[in-house]
Amino acid sequence: MSGVRSSDTLASQTRRNELAAGQEPFAIILGCSDSRVPAEIVFDQGLGDLFVIRVAGNIVASSQIGSVEFAAERFGTPLVVALGHSRCGAVQATLEELMRPRESQSRNLRSIVDRIRPSVEALLATELRDDLDALVRQGVRSNVRASANHLRHGSEVLEQLIQRAGLLVVGAEYSLETGVVDFFDGVPEAG
Ligand SMILES: [Zn+2]
Repeated sequence: MSGVRSSDTLASQTRRNELAAGQEPFAIILGCSDSRVPAEIVFDQGLGDLFVIRVAGNIVASSQIGSVEFAAERFGTPLVVALGHSRCGAVQATLEELMRPRESQSRNLRSIVDRIRPSVEALLATELRDDLDALVRQGVRSNVRASANHLRHGSEVLEQLIQRAGLLVVGAEYSLETGVVDFFDGVPEAG
């Protein structure tokens, strides 16, 4: 946001040597593959700080859950962030597909669209229907909520860590325009 980078985030040989022996990332980020949203740069973090899973549309399928389980169990990482972003192309493509279904879409791409579809489909029945920008804005939030919920409830391992070890799963949206990250889902009240 402020255009300043921390010098701690530079990849030094000293830091590499420290980390070769083991890692202890403080957060797991499930983010979108979009080239404009690299988690380490968005949060100004360096080597060893974040365990990052990136997939178009920050969707949750088995391999994403497995990756989160792995890091939360192995490294005791206490925080998981489902990170969406404004103008997400995967959310927009899903909305466009719902409005104008095509038959030619690849099976692989469809597997992503199908994961996003349930969280955006209902929006097409609202008054937002004719406003693609508004649909994408709402769709990004719905999709982040769905991903965070899926992580909270789609895995016995994670459910146990949430109940017994205080693992926290939150949802956030990064603004491409301002650089602000809004943590809007699952954040405990301060105090
Ligand atoms: Zn995206």
